[in-house]
Amino acid sequence: MTDRNDELFDEARRVIPGGVNSPVRAYGSVGGSPRFLGSARGAYVTDAAGREYVDLVASWGPALLGHAQPEVVAAVQEAASRGLSFGAPTEGEVELAELIAARVAFGDPSTGSGINPIDRVRLVSTGTEATMTAIRLARGYTGRDLLIKFAGHYHGHSDGLLAAAGSGVATLALPGSAGVPAPIAAQTLVLPYNDPTALEEAFAIHGERIAAIIVEAASANMGVVPPAAGFNAFLADIAHRHGALLILDEVLTGFRVHPAGFWGLQQAAGERYTPDLFTFGKVVGGGMPLAALGGRADVMDALAPVGPVYQAGTLSGNPLSVAAGLATLRLATPDVYARVDAAAAVVAHALDSALSAEGVVHSVPRAGSLFGVAFRDGIPTTYDEAQDQEAWRYAPFFHATLDAGVSLPPSVFEAWFLTAAHDDDALGRIVEALPAAARAAAEA
Ligand code: PMP
Repeated sequence: MTDRNDELFDEARRVIPGGVNSPVRAYGSVGGSPRFLGSARGAYVTDAAGREYVDLVASWGPALLGHAQPEVVAAVQEAASRGLSFGAPTEGEVELAELIAARVAFGDPSTGSGINPIDRVRLVSTGTEATMTAIRLARGYTGRDLLIKFAGHYHGHSDGLLAAAGSGVATLALPGSAGVPAPIAAQTLVLPYNDPTALEEAFAIHGERIAAIIVEAASANMGVVPPAAGFNAFLADIAHRHGALLILDEVLTGFRVHPAGFWGLQQAAGERYTPDLFTFGKVVGGGMPLAALGGRADVMDALAPVGPVYQAGTLSGNPLSVAAGLATLRLATPDVYARVDAAAAVVAHALDSALSAEGVVHSVPRAGSLFGVAFRDGIPTTYDEAQDQEAWRYAPFFHATLDAGVSLPPSVFEAWFLTAAHDDDALGRIVEALPAAARAAAEA
């Protein structure tokens, strides 16, 4: 039976490569036509055939408060009425930069007893730009070229970050995509995640050439794979011992898992460390194109026009995006995080129970309110382990939930996103859909 989504997918593929403007939207690993969405409100999205789904994609993270939160929409409408883009500084950008810096702090920095790692913030439009700029800045600041990233971590699609591991921890990377020149990939070392020994080895060999380590604060782009206790603090320590910087990529986790991001969650749990640069995206723009990087004054001031590292953007700090980000962060009170945490706990528990009841081998990895499913015994700790699972069970599982009116991320290697708008009714619909989905996974 074809419906409007199928018709649109056919039409889309004639004019857009693969029918989508970002690959994972194409349902490539689960099959079928992606749902073309017409509207979204609260915990729900509505497709082109008029069907409503409880949504666990949340625009891949930004919709912390739920879709089309009325005060956020009103803030954007009000900003739009004053002009769509100026290409000049605005008051809102200053407020948003101050708000980001104030939230990402721990303890009481004013008395010297706290940590306040962000003095300056630059606003950009996408997470890709934020990480790309952070890396250029780290290279410009340190005068070094090499970058360490971890296998399975995603930091956007700039050339140097689409690098695949070479053989052995000391080997420079190979291109991770067609079109990435080998000499550019070779400026990156791709190491196994959660493996301090691999870092010690890489720094022992290349230490004086390494500008920075970039790491997802908690990895969530190979499924959810949380950092081992102490790993992020170890990264800060080894980087600093060798004169390199630590770039903590909070594009996905920032302002989503805690008012001060995953870093804030770790500070609250007693894992103290200070990254040199942070990158943010998704929630910080409240669903509009906005991302940011922030860090210490001496590092950030290497950016133009103060310093020699160039970066710019016609739409950087766009007033509509800034309005959405400001409204979202102001509404994202501790109570919102408590609601998202509670909703995540309900769904993660129901997911675990449903799969256990059907005898499906699985684990439910978690990092704060982020979680996902892995069809393997035990929580993965590396990319190799994340890939070592019965991933084929996800397609039937996914389609069973979709048929029941629940929209999950269309890949087993993505996190499930709850929002503050997932009330008892929305959660009930998800919980009801899971047993049949688990059965479909068991039969696959
Ligand atoms: N870093 C991380 C950790 C991400 O999850 C993403 C996107 N999912 C990016 C960077 C890139 O952000 P964007 O898609 O806005 O370019």
